[in-house]
Amino acid sequence: MNLKERYQKIEEEISDYSALRGVPYPVKLVAVSKGQAVDALREVMIGGCYEFGESRVQEALEKQAALSPSIHWHMIGPLQTNKLPKLIGKFVLIHSVSSLELLQGIDERSKRAGLITNVLLQSNTSGEETKQGLSPEEWEKAWPAIASLQSVKIEGLMTIAPLTDDHQIIRDAFANLRKLQERLQEKAYPHTPLYHLSMGMSHDWRIAIEEGATILRIGNQIFSE
Ligand SMILES: *Cc1c(COP(=O)(O)O)cnc(C)c1O
Repeated sequence: MNLKERYQKIEEEISDYSALRGVPYPVKLVAVSKGQAVDALREVMIGGCYEFGESRVQEALEKQAALSPSIHWHMIGPLQTNKLPKLIGKFVLIHSVSSLELLQGIDERSKRAGLITNVLLQSNTSGEETKQGLSPEEWEKAWPAIASLQSVKIEGLMTIAPLTDDHQIIRDAFANLRKLQERLQEKAYPHTPLYHLSMGMSHDWRIAIEEGATILRIGNQIFSE
């Protein structure tokens, strides 16, 4: 199979699985193209993909310059405050806002640029030390400071599950994100819908759909043999 066919196959698998599970909303597929050459992205675009996820700002900007302006770019990688000036206005959604300081930095830069930036709050829902993001409890505690920010639109939450074969551990990490969404939603209503749950990668996207994912971030299953 070529990349176009691989993309279309996974897209079909996602829509079939969502239907099987009775999911009443569309589940968005973001093709994670970090480390892939521009030509590979072009092939996937031929398959109908217009949502790409990148981990590094510089790499993403180079690809943006080389490809169609109609692509939606998602930032999914670790962020540093010194990269924010380059980031603002370049991504349809920033998934990886892993601290209050980053969120406030994005808000401030966005205000200066006269923009509203769409973001997801990244939460470490498994307690693994290597995982980025605040714990659910920390995001809850930070909420009063977040609610007043006017130049970020918080569209939902993001998590990365532990890399394990134990499905229960993965499922718990996803379920914890959904529970955080429910708790924040009560505080946020009616100002912020907090609609999206960005969770699920190549090896665990079915579990993510079962636990309420609205966005899947999939790289290897599209790009690697
Ligand atoms: C690389 C990456 C993915 C994609 O993972 P695959 O296993 O290749 O599907 C998803 N999310 C994040 C944050 C990533 O860094």
